[in-house]
Amino acid sequence: MTLAFPTQLRVGYWGLVAQQNIHPGTIVCDETPLVSVILDTLHSDWSDDDKIRFYADEYKTDTKIIKRALAKVSKDQQDLFRRLVTRSPCWRRDRLDVSRFELYARVLSSAPRDDEGLTCLAVFYKVSYINHSCRPNAVFSWDGERVIVQATNVIAAGEEIVLDRLPESLQCAIAELRKSYLLQKDSFDCQCRDCHLDTCKEGDEIRQRLQHLHAELTGIIGSQMTPTSFQARIQRNTTHLSFASEHCSLIRQLTWQDMRLAGAHVCLAKALHRSGLLSCAQNHATQAMIVSTGINGYVWNNLMIEAMEVLQQCLGLE
Ligand SMILES: [Zn+2]
Repeated sequence: MTLAFPTQLRVGYWGLVAQQNIHPGTIVCDETPLVSVILDTLHSDWSDDDKIRFYADEYKTDTKIIKRALAKVSKDQQDLFRRLVTRSPCWRRDRLDVSRFELYARVLSSAPRDDEGLTCLAVFYKVSYINHSCRPNAVFSWDGERVIVQATNVIAAGEEIVLDRLPESLQCAIAELRKSYLLQKDSFDCQCRDCHLDTCKEGDEIRQRLQHLHAELTGIIGSQMTPTSFQARIQRNTTHLSFASEHCSLIRQLTWQDMRLAGAHVCLAKALHRSGLLSCAQNHATQAMIVSTGINGYVWNNLMIEAMEVLQQCLGLE
């Protein structure tokens, strides 16, 4: 069943659009690459300009690597590749700016392609249509060379599926910094709700508080503290945590923060349990479980188990 389909949203602007209501955790896309090239066969010392030229040349003048790779795939895949390339906003003046493809290629290159651990440069069909938003409604993960996109929010039929393409270090940066990065790196002016001048304040505040929370938690996790300083930290972080929990539906969109948020709850639950504050501990363990279940089958199982353990201890079940 096709849950999402490439759709032209306005002239020259395509996106992947939901065909029906999609619930959080649903797999929206599960794709193997249209075409891929083992990285080891490519030069590693290209500048960005070279890369662009390389791709334009390879695609246009039919030379070498991409063409060779394309020749090996089915006719349908070749057609999809051409359609994708010519529909891309990167297709300008007969030159192909592959920043879009590169993005997925770069991410994919961290995914082992086979037992030898080779990595490849790959182009995906549907996933390439997914545009960026600093308030994404989906996340992606790798399974070998397959890319899997999962909804993190309720996505209504007709709504565009959007991913956060920012590097992790910038996901909690204020709008100004994110915008200038995206403009410089991807030549696009993000106008998502969190970047829009009229509405960016809320997003900025949430991000700043999350960043603060993270800094605090980094100090707590794994550190040896006296019970008094533990209590002080807990006090401070409970304020941030309750703010974070209130904004859970927004934070849910910042996936890595979800993990930290769940981790934070587990951490506080343990500390509270150790201090004998069982009902508070139970509360945080429950919160951790709620946050951890945000997305099906995600990597938060360990957090869930830890939260369960604290709960069991609180309830005297072990
Ligand atoms: Zn944005």
